[in-house]
Amino acid sequence: MDLKTLYRTVIMDNYKNPKNKGLVKGDDYHFVHLNNPSCGDDMNVELKVENGVITDIHHDGHGCSICCSSASVMSDTLIGHNVEDALAIINDFYEMVKGEEPKNEEALGEAIAYMGVRDFPARIKCATLSWKAIEEAINEVQDEKK
Ligand code: ZN
Repeated sequence: MDLKTLYRTVIMDNYKNPKNKGLVKGDDYHFVHLNNPSCGDDMNVELKVENGVITDIHHDGHGCSICCSSASVMSDTLIGHNVEDALAIINDFYEMVKGEEPKNEEALGEAIAYMGVRDFPARIKCATLSWKAIEEAINEVQDEKK
């Protein structure tokens, strides 16, 4: 299987069968909504952090296949990490879609599939929308603790 096929497979699988989709609306979840007017993507995320570890993420929204599949991959990639590691992975993802070599391919896992987005600058915002939303949620949870 060549890389392009692999990328397409990850994106289509996560678009058709998204993981962690649907909001829980629990009191112990932190909610963030973001949209991307240039494509019409609209994304809601929910974050649960316990003792500094991300124990759950849910997402719900609508938009293009890149945006919706990326939210599924984001949730699957970040659950189980502590917030510091999660922020490092998020940053690595941003750098990767902009054309940098990822620092930690293993931690990115399936998110590597979005490397091809670097060739389509207009789609970078689609790929990163849910990651921006969860980053904002993490930062808000961190601020609340101070
Ligand atoms: Zn989009």
